[in-house]
Amino acid sequence: MEIAFLGSGSSGNCAAVRAGRTVVLLDAGLSLRQTARRLEGRGLSLDDVAAVLLTHEHSDHVRGALDLAKKRQLPVYATEGTARAAALPGPLFADIRIVRGGDEVRIGQDLYIHVTATPHDGAESVCYVFADGRGRRIGVATDLGHLSPEVAGAIRGCEVIGLEANHDVDLLRDGPYPPHVKRRILSEVGHLSNEDAAAGLLGLVTERTRSVVALHVSRHNNTFALARRVFHEALVGMGSKVAHHDEATAWIGVSSEGEEIGR
Ligand SMILES: [Zn+2]
Ligand SMILES: [Zn+2]
Repeated sequence: MEIAFLGSGSSGNCAAVRAGRTVVLLDAGLSLRQTARRLEGRGLSLDDVAAVLLTHEHSDHVRGALDLAKKRQLPVYATEGTARAAALPGPLFADIRIVRGGDEVRIGQDLYIHVTATPHDGAESVCYVFADGRGRRIGVATDLGHLSPEVAGAIRGCEVIGLEANHDVDLLRDGPYPPHVKRRILSEVGHLSNEDAAAGLLGLVTERTRSVVALHVSRHNNTFALARRVFHEALVGMGSKVAHHDEATAWIGVSSEGEEIGR
């Protein structure tokens, strides 16, 4: 099982998760064309995708969802709150599958997905943990006002952990955003700072963990170097990566390096 982040941050969040022959998209924040183009870069096409899972209705996560549901006729998994707030089409027009925090979903032969509620200012936001048939897991959590015990419990000890490192608190405070936006980002239902992410990682990473990826890095209130540095310091040298806004990462696998990458 492996994951490639096709885009991360406010310009569009989307990742591809592959387990055996099953491929799903995590969020649909890119246009259909961009999604297809970046999938191609990872050796896949939209025809390979079995389903789409949405975390919440903010546009950087659902921009392409309607097209994937209607033009591509893909099943779209979302909470009821997200489906409503994102104005996803009704059951006559698209295959929308409602999930809620605590649910377990199986897609295809090889992919088991656990749904966990997240603290964010969406209608009913969630994050997803993906497990293969052998119990190896990829956990991805972004758009978190804080690292709640539920989210921490869900992604602790995953082989691959993708965690939001949205902003540097000082850069945000001194930055160009209006005060109400700064307050929103810093709130308990806003976004996770580098420092909070790094502190949280100490309790999330176990001996099973092989890769940690910093996600949803802000263009205005953070830098890749800062996110990389705080993660690196927190993990004392363990491999960490930072997902780019507009470029896909390589495949990041749950097995030892190389075993699944480039398959
Ligand atoms: Zn977002
Ligand atoms: Zn959001």
